Amino acid sequence: MSFYERNGIIPYINAHDTYTVYGGSRMADNTLQAMREAAESFVDIRQMQVVLGEKAARMTHNEAAFFTNGAAGALLLCACVCMAEDSEYLYRRLPETPGQKKEIILMRPQRNAYDTAVRVSGAQIIEIGDADETLESELEGRISEQTAAVFYFASSLYRRGSLSLEQTIEIAGKHGVPVVVDAAAQLPPRENLWRFTEAGADMVIFSGGKTLCGPQDSGIIVGKKKWIDRCIRFGAPEHGVCRVSKTSREAMAGLYTALENYMAADEREEDEKRRKIIALIEGRICGCSDIMDMEIVERGPVGQTYSRLFCYIRKEKRAEEIVRKMRERRIYIGYEEEKNAIYISPLNLTEEEALVVAEALADISDGN
Ligand SMILES: *Cc1c(COP(=O)(O)O)cnc(C)c1O
Repeated sequence: MSFYERNGIIPYINAHDTYTVYGGSRMADNTLQAMREAAESFVDIRQMQVVLGEKAARMTHNEAAFFTNGAAGALLLCACVCMAEDSEYLYRRLPETPGQKKEIILMRPQRNAYDTAVRVSGAQIIEIGDADETLESELEGRISEQTAAVFYFASSLYRRGSLSLEQTIEIAGKHGVPVVVDAAAQLPPRENLWRFTEAGADMVIFSGGKTLCGPQDSGIIVGKKKWIDRCIRFGAPEHGVCRVSKTSREAMAGLYTALENYMAADEREEDEKRRKIIALIEGRICGCSDIMDMEIVERGPVGQTYSRLFCYIRKEKRAEEIVRKMRERRIYIGYEEEKNAIYISPLNLTEEEALVVAEALADISDGN
């Protein structure tokens, strides 16, 4: 009997995407093995952080790297080090910020649920732009002695109305203000691990629990040594506000191994595996009565380079209804209400699971 069965927890197949509420992504055997091995002995957590950080940085073509408990924890730490810079006094006082530099600039089209992680640092969020556009002159004009950083969310969902990252880095750089990029879910392509830092970003954040297939509670900040040194100095296990988002040796070992796997994988092969899974499902549900049309969309939900299978549902039926029925069969799928479409992401599916998804979907879309 499995752990879930023994404890009355319902397991699902994830044909939707890497969402935290479903448990994120799946770790490889060697990742789990590394976590087991890490658990067996005690270490100096600070030494482990520094050694693995240096190796992870080299592996991803970055100057330096720091492991966190997730991208949200990384947002908090980045905000804190941007405000405290080299002052232990200022860091330890956070989230109290009297008389110190505390403004973090965000573009209004990029405001999202995760920027709470920036606010809990004690930073004051300064919004620029509107839903339609952000002017270079507004970013330039808002930067002052009070500005601690500009945070940039790299998701394709927020591109409309935002300055480009290049424009942002150029303007902030001119004033000596650091730019932090949240690229939590921006993989693949693999080159994103170094593309934003090469463009001049000071710190770039990735979630470990999404496409990297590390532990759900892991993440990494890559970037300039000057800033990562401050993350090492002030981040967990040190006391202060970021102690609430500490990282374990198991999570570091897991994410480090997942990163090794990710860097070693053949991107073309991975793409072919995902396409095979899509073809398998497409072949089985083709011709089902509720499905009007199918399309392979060559992008993930936030602009990643992997394909998804979209099925457009006939007008008389609601896509949401199909999602609900799939969920009753313990399968998560995605949907887009305005298109009356459901979609399948191959990201977290094994071939075996894909067959189960295909059978269930064929059955439901034939009116059952
Ligand atoms: C998923 C996500 C996060 C949070 O990542 P965790 O690793 O789960 O903390 C932060 N920012 C963005 C843009 C995300 O997509």
